[in-house]
Amino acid sequence: MTVPFFPKIEQESSAEIFRYQNDKLQEALSYLNVASPFYKDMFRKHSIDVSKINTLGHLVHIPVTTKVDLQTRNDDFVCVPKNKIIDYITTSGTLGDPVTFAMTDKDLDRLAYNEAISFTCANGSDADVYQLMTTIDRRFMAGLAYFLGIRKLGASVVRVGNGIPELQWDTIQRIKPNAIIAVPSFILKIIEYAEQRGIDYKSSSIQKAVCIGEPLRKHDLTLNTLGRKIQEKWPLKLYSTYASTEMGSSFTECEEGIGGHHHPELIIVEFLDDDNNPVKEGELGEVTVTTLGVEGMPLLRFKTGDVCHHYTNPCHCGRNTIRLGPVVGRKNQMIKYKGTTLFPPALYDILDNIDFISSYIVEVYTNEIGTDEILIHVGSKAPVEDREKDIKDHFRAKLRVAPLITFKPHDEISKIQFPESGRKSLKFIDNREK
Ligand SMILES: [Zn+2]
Repeated sequence: MTVPFFPKIEQESSAEIFRYQNDKLQEALSYLNVASPFYKDMFRKHSIDVSKINTLGHLVHIPVTTKVDLQTRNDDFVCVPKNKIIDYITTSGTLGDPVTFAMTDKDLDRLAYNEAISFTCANGSDADVYQLMTTIDRRFMAGLAYFLGIRKLGASVVRVGNGIPELQWDTIQRIKPNAIIAVPSFILKIIEYAEQRGIDYKSSSIQKAVCIGEPLRKHDLTLNTLGRKIQEKWPLKLYSTYASTEMGSSFTECEEGIGGHHHPELIIVEFLDDDNNPVKEGELGEVTVTTLGVEGMPLLRFKTGDVCHHYTNPCHCGRNTIRLGPVVGRKNQMIKYKGTTLFPPALYDILDNIDFISSYIVEVYTNEIGTDEILIHVGSKAPVEDREKDIKDHFRAKLRVAPLITFKPHDEISKIQFPESGRKSLKFIDNREK
């Protein structure tokens, strides 16, 4: 039996996938060379003859594209006249202003295809009913992408949107979906809501969750605290997925849960060091992408800022594509601390695991000798000032170093952590001298 939306190329050998991507790269470069004001400029300035860039190995001869480029020259990235644009999306930029993305009809089809093959990777089929617990409007891409992908897959969708645990549970009881698409920390929230109201969530219709926005695993691919907490309470099958607007493609786990699979028809992915050279397997690298088949706003060697490991050994699911480990952090949030390199998510994972901590903020600043200092503002509902050593021991056990700790009332931290205006919770404050 052939599975729809399980691309043949993903089951080919890595050599075959490499050849396939070389051809796709040529197509992408030819298109940029004709249609993209930004890249035409770049090729001219750097005397790049795109016909000579004919394997992935030649990519290193092309400068990378950064978020700053996107922000300062946003319009020059658009390759089509205005009347071909169907959907506008924005993402947050690094300089404050958001970056606008223009999607054509063809781009929306590509997005739908990406999600159809990604859901298939996460064992989805036309028999599934997905409850969508993410925003579909507000200029976001994700919710729309999921809707289009589920439609293409022939599965069913209930668009509840984010938040409102009461409406989530009402929908689960009314429509009986078997799958949810949600941010992992929100799954914990709806579990808590169900427990408080005596809803028997374990016997509900939900069997699996496609998790977005936050990693579920540590870099050794075992579940992190968040993933473990969900699993202990509610034994759902969890699939992690990593994506961004710029990529217009996602890296989704299969049932093996050993990293998100690359879709070679849609994107070229590189893992780069600080000098923009490829890292070896086993080393941390910054995810850098070249989009394939994008018409409105294609990108070439775009540095996402996300740092992760990658794996090339074949997977039992039958896919031979590269897999990405969980994002260990953002490149610009990297902390050099007492001889080790840390990313904030590793600190969150430890703090999430200490039961008497009810809220926290990780602050990093430059100390008097000019190096990074970490100060954790711990909020607690009960008096815990004497637990400082406890907390430090947790850090030493996991990271071999312990940060500074300060205690605050829970409400004070909570107010900073969940600003009323923000779309996202705030856990990290960077006060380092640049
Ligand atoms: Zn797999």
